[in-house]
Amino acid sequence: MRLLAPVSFLLSALAIASVCEAQPGGPGGGNRGAQIKPGETCPPGMTEVRPGNCQAPTMTPPSILDYRPHSTLVVPDHAVPKAKFPAIDYHGHPFQQLNSAEGLTELGDALDALNIRVIVAANNASGDALQRQAALIAASPRMKDRVRLLAGISFRGVGPGWAEKAIAQLEADKAAGAVGVGEIGKGLGLNTTKADGTRLRIDDPALDAVWAACARLNLPVFIHTADPQEFWKPIDFTNERWLELALFPNRRYPADQNPSFEELMMERDNMLRRNPKTTFVIAHMGWHANDLGRLGKMMDEMPNLLTEVGAVLYDIGRQPRTAHDFFVKYQDRILFGKDSFQPEEYPYYWRVFETRDDYFDYYRDYHATWKLYGIDLPDSVLKKVYFGNALRITAGLPQADWPR
Ligand SMILES: [Zn+2]
Repeated sequence: MRLLAPVSFLLSALAIASVCEAQPGGPGGGNRGAQIKPGETCPPGMTEVRPGNCQAPTMTPPSILDYRPHSTLVVPDHAVPKAKFPAIDYHGHPFQQLNSAEGLTELGDALDALNIRVIVAANNASGDALQRQAALIAASPRMKDRVRLLAGISFRGVGPGWAEKAIAQLEADKAAGAVGVGEIGKGLGLNTTKADGTRLRIDDPALDAVWAACARLNLPVFIHTADPQEFWKPIDFTNERWLELALFPNRRYPADQNPSFEELMMERDNMLRRNPKTTFVIAHMGWHANDLGRLGKMMDEMPNLLTEVGAVLYDIGRQPRTAHDFFVKYQDRILFGKDSFQPEEYPYYWRVFETRDDYFDYYRDYHATWKLYGIDLPDSVLKKVYFGNALRITAGLPQADWPR
């Protein structure tokens, strides 16, 4: 057989390379090898070292908890301790910080260090608790324009007379200072029951009067529906959230005990479509940060819809080009929010949004086994995401003195 010179060179180079390395199943491999056909995956404990050839390591492999490789990648590295523009955290959960003047002072120090000008407490407060917090905030010269409250709606016992009571409470909460509604929790749809004992669907028509009242009172509705879709999937080694589900078994939603992820999404979307005059902010990018095309379609179809980025940074930061383009296209529809109040975690958000850094760590490895990349948003988009969009949809936020 005649071979062209470059090809024969390549073949002999490959032959040398394969002599230098242990052969799967051959000398040096012992019985650590296995053959697979195209489309098959290697047996447990083996990896595909050459096409069709699987091999087990010569040492006991570490668990995913213990494997912590140090990256040797040397690339520019920009820590961003403070947001480039003053930010509004629309998905704030300060709790004990809203119970005392000292707590508020502590909160102010943490917000200053991060350049968060306003935190929106999305704690579902209502009635006396909301009034108490509003009074504490109003009494603080330093913090009176730094914290705003969302009002909670109780969805327990939905039935005759429920909507009238809920609306009266909402009006009282607005008078006490609430600037919106939320965070409506994932219990709605999952396990909240009606007065008659049946599951309260998110698109139950009994709720429509309350959504209409939110529109009339000019209160945006911040709503969290469902959870990452992997929480409904089998807990096997193909599940991206295996570690999280193994750490927190109560995050699993066995199919026989819960509505499915898609059922909840359908109910949510029915509700959003049926109430076009109400402004909704869907938390956690609607759990579609792993499928921005789907979220984009929702945005296109529903002009009353905005979204918020809390606790899905691991999805934004693993698709820097797609996420960049999504944020630019929907720059008027995305709000910054963080969820769990851990001051040391905010700078990861700033770094993803503001830099073009490559391959850096996320703050919780049980959420994501991968690294993050900066999506490098232009200043004009950052300003909208950090504060402009929240100000536009929320009349009760302090509106003066933002960098325009
Ligand atoms: Zn929340």
